[in-house]
Parts: sequence; structure tokens; C-alpha cells
Amino acid sequence: MGLLDFLLSLLSGGNKIQCPSCGTQGARKESDGRVLCKNPSCPYFDASLGRSGTLRQAGTRLVTEGNYRPTHPVTIRYQNFQGQDRTFTAEQDSLARKQNHLVAQVAPTGQKIALSRDRIQNLAEVESAFRQRVAPDQSWPTPRERQVLNYHKKNGSTSPLFEKIRGKYPDW
Ligand SMILES: [Zn+2]
Repeated sequence: MGLLDFLLSLLSGGNKIQCPSCGTQGARKESDGRVLCKNPSCPYFDASLGRSGTLRQAGTRLVTEGNYRPTHPVTIRYQNFQGQDRTFTAEQDSLARKQNHLVAQVAPTGQKIALSRDRIQNLAEVESAFRQRVAPDQSWPTPRERQVLNYHKKNGSTSPLFEKIRGKYPDW
């Protein structure tokens, strides 16, 4: 731990932990068990952690407002670390799995958030929304493959690389 981090941790009180939702280092656990995370895309985000200077934004409204509307909405019912129920409307095309998390682009901000699969109340429903696009036991396309697939689908265009990847993922 650097000296500055050490001094900040003394000032902020609480225990520095890795965020249980998104995995960001430097989240804080309060004495009452609440988790405050400095990742603005995280359900535990707390603007007060911005006092380290690097993450402060122009008010927290950025996090809760926006006009992003998913084209293929998937409803995710989520219970956060504090036992609060949240409902997210996510874009189906954005869903991706990272270890035991689902990453999803959500309304209304259009930001990508990481949700612990263990806390998703309708996990089977949510996962079936994207599992249809890959064969059983087939691994998810890599970010690069998804980029190529999504780019050509969006533009109605094609390329030899696209055809090759499309061969692997005909239902994408
Ligand atoms: Zn977090």
C-alpha cells in the first residue's frame, strides 16, 4: 500500500476491500456492513469515495439518469449486498459472463455494470436470453469476435472474417 493510500484509508475509516459485486479494489466496508464501491457502474457505487480525487464526477446524477433504452430489453431482478431488491433493464446484446458475474449495459444510463450471478433472482431467465445464441457447452465468443459479429450485423455488411465467426455462431 502506498503512503497516500495508507493516509486516505486512515482518513476514510472502514476497511478497504475488494468489491463483492464488481471486484474493484478499494471498495469500503462500513461498520454496519454496507459496501461502498468507487466504480460508478457498480450497484454499490457511492460518490463519497470520489474524495481520492480521481473518481469524483459532477454529481451522482450521472449514475442514475440518462435516456438509454435497450433495443432488446432483458429484465434482471437483483438483490444487492444490503438485501435491497433492484430491477435493471439490460440490453440483451450486451450480456456477457465474466467468471461468476454477468456484465450488462443497463437503462437509463447506458453504463455497463457487473452483477454477481448469485444475487440475480431470475438467473435462469436472464441466462436463457443469451444462451440461445451459442450452442450448449460452446464457449462465448471472444470480445474481438463479438465486435466483428455485432459490427457487421448492425451494418448489414460482411467480410471473410465475419463469415468465419458466423459459421461458429450461426444464431448470434
Ligand atoms: Zn463495485
